[in-house]
Amino acid sequence: MTEREAQDSYAHSIKNYLEYMVRIGLNPVMIPEKDFGTTSDKENRLSLESIRTELGDCKRCRLHEKRHTIVFGEGKPDARLMFVGEGPGADEDAQGRPFVGKAGQLLTRMIQAMKFQREDVYIANIVKCRPPANRDPEQDEIDTCLPFLKSQIRAIEPDVIVTLGRIAAKALLKTSDPLNVIRGRVYEVEGIPVIPTYHPSFLLREESDKRFKAMAWEDLQKAMALLESRRSRTEYHYDE
Ligand code: SF4
Repeated sequence: MTEREAQDSYAHSIKNYLEYMVRIGLNPVMIPEKDFGTTSDKENRLSLESIRTELGDCKRCRLHEKRHTIVFGEGKPDARLMFVGEGPGADEDAQGRPFVGKAGQLLTRMIQAMKFQREDVYIANIVKCRPPANRDPEQDEIDTCLPFLKSQIRAIEPDVIVTLGRIAAKALLKTSDPLNVIRGRVYEVEGIPVIPTYHPSFLLREESDKRFKAMAWEDLQKAMALLESRRSRTEYHYDE
């Protein structure tokens, strides 16, 4: 197959895939992201280990000043499903692992409800160091840290990314819209569908309002449908 034929075939499969999403009511929205790099360029992809090595004892932004531990992210290196949160909290900062506090326990239950185990997925954050007093990360801190997350996404190349909370959605999708406007649709960044949903901490805070939990479950079901559709396409491809 020539390079041109390969590009046409890839474009055709993306088109079919987006048409499938429309048919099952997922309303895709394409968000081009120029600095994301090309997921098809496997040779230029770094491994997770080399990304961690490059990050080193990072002091690239002011968040390093109060952190105890860099929370790089954890999970299956070739996970089909990836979660991206905002940043480490106190428990995560102490343990060096993402989503290990109460919000993490809820995320684990959400993952299990999707018929996965926590070790089947990959979990990371927009910033890798805890913002003091759990404040929102500043834009310059996000801009400094985000390239490492993007490298991780390229290394893992998941089938679906679920962003947790408004900061993660806004940073990854490069939008200033509020989460209640963003969620409910499927976005796409360099061929990877992105589904924004609520942060587990928010769901815990709003536990008495069942609507948020229901909307989050709707989002996770969309992610499951997409994973299933991508699995079917892969199996079909191998059967050909
Ligand atoms: S938040 Fe990211 S860029 Fe900032 S110091 Fe930590 S690892 Fe480095």
